[in-house]
Amino acid sequence: MTDTLDTTDQTTASAPSVTQERRIVTAVPGPRSQALHARRTAVVSDGVSSVLPVYIERAHGAIVVDVDGNQFIDLGAGIGVTTIGHTESSVVGAVQDQAADVLHTLFTITPYEEYVRVAELLAEHTPGDFAKKSVLVNSGAEAVENGVKIARKYTGRRAVAVLDHGYHGRTNLTMAMNYKAAPYATGYGPFAGDVYHAPNSYPYHDGLSGAEAAARTIAYLEKRIGATDLACLVVEPIQGEGGFVVPAEGYLPALQEWCTANGVVFIADEIQSGMARTGEYFASSHFGLVPDLVLSAKGIAGGLPLAAVTGRAEIMDASQPGGLGGTFGGNPVACAASVAVFESIESRGLLAEADRIGATLTAALLELQRKYDIIGDVRGIGAMIAMELVQPGTASTTKEPNAAAVSAIAATAAQQGVLVLTAGTYGNVLRFLPSLAVSDELIADAMTVIDQALAAL
Ligand SMILES: *Cc1c(COP(=O)(O)O)cnc(C)c1O
Repeated sequence: MTDTLDTTDQTTASAPSVTQERRIVTAVPGPRSQALHARRTAVVSDGVSSVLPVYIERAHGAIVVDVDGNQFIDLGAGIGVTTIGHTESSVVGAVQDQAADVLHTLFTITPYEEYVRVAELLAEHTPGDFAKKSVLVNSGAEAVENGVKIARKYTGRRAVAVLDHGYHGRTNLTMAMNYKAAPYATGYGPFAGDVYHAPNSYPYHDGLSGAEAAARTIAYLEKRIGATDLACLVVEPIQGEGGFVVPAEGYLPALQEWCTANGVVFIADEIQSGMARTGEYFASSHFGLVPDLVLSAKGIAGGLPLAAVTGRAEIMDASQPGGLGGTFGGNPVACAASVAVFESIESRGLLAEADRIGATLTAALLELQRKYDIIGDVRGIGAMIAMELVQPGTASTTKEPNAAAVSAIAATAAQQGVLVLTAGTYGNVLRFLPSLAVSDELIADAMTVIDQALAAL
């Protein structure tokens, strides 16, 4: 078994040949996608929606290919999951090898090395120089749920605080933790209690310094909850669904300092911002933040379902044996994929690639901002960059959200072979979350499409 952890001697899977270029050969969606969509509509719940009814057959690097042969530049990476690139050969090889060795035993019955190796890698790469431990689970929401469980157990306290514009998942507890009710919570109550929403730092809108915004957040926590009842504060260092909101300098360290002084567990939800996306393994590092617990998911296993809670050993060990776990949590195939992801980040120098992508994207979007006055703000770090669109003439005054422009650009771009995601509480943010395999040439090509889409508004 040990040699399966060394990807250097793994059989390199033959990746499907997908040229790294945009190519549209039918209407979008094409006839085969339309036929599949008709089948899907009959049997898949309407509660599961798809942004673009284009059915994907193959993918590699930064390109996805649909069933009609159209090739799209993927600037969403499955919402930041295929961060190291689609069907990356070392991940595919690790999955194939592990699938042939063992698919499942259940770590809580008979354990295996791959789970331990992922926990070692997480301990090594999450911020902070202290003993750390992990629990592996299946999804981001499950990691959030476990982070809260662990913090409550450790502190013996009840309340959970989150920040405005945050997103944490679709389970019962996490629905209560999201800022946005529609579509995530509408009609699904009653919700978990003891969840409190504090104001965040949103420099484009609040104009506050980090210290001012932190004072506002802390005043809320102290007045509305009281520090002695607060188990944890759950924060996305860069808010994902909220629209890549980067907090003002000093905001997060001030919150952490207050949490530490008051025995509150500081939990960084790095599910979208983590795993090399921002040029650091975890975005917390950009802010000098050393969370007590870090939540990972999305990019952690190159496309396989895996998530983790990692943090201070004394907090992680407060739970009684049997209190944490689950049937599929830390599945061996997902863990083998994750080990390959960590190795790929190192061997391909992907932290530097994230910096390159951030510089290229930011420069391109700032250029567009000079041409189009509806681009109110360009922000983000590394391969996590967004632009917030506002109504004409309001970019420096009232900053009225312009969701219609965002939807129109995303739709036009898709027709031209560029997949971009929307975000933001008001749906007025276009977010770029490409894989770290995307070249500057592909970004430049995608930006000409975005430019045309802006011009066509
Ligand atoms: C996606 C996401 C989640 C939820 O993850 P799932 O795997 O969809 O349950 C939680 N927090 C953040 C910041 C996310 O981006």
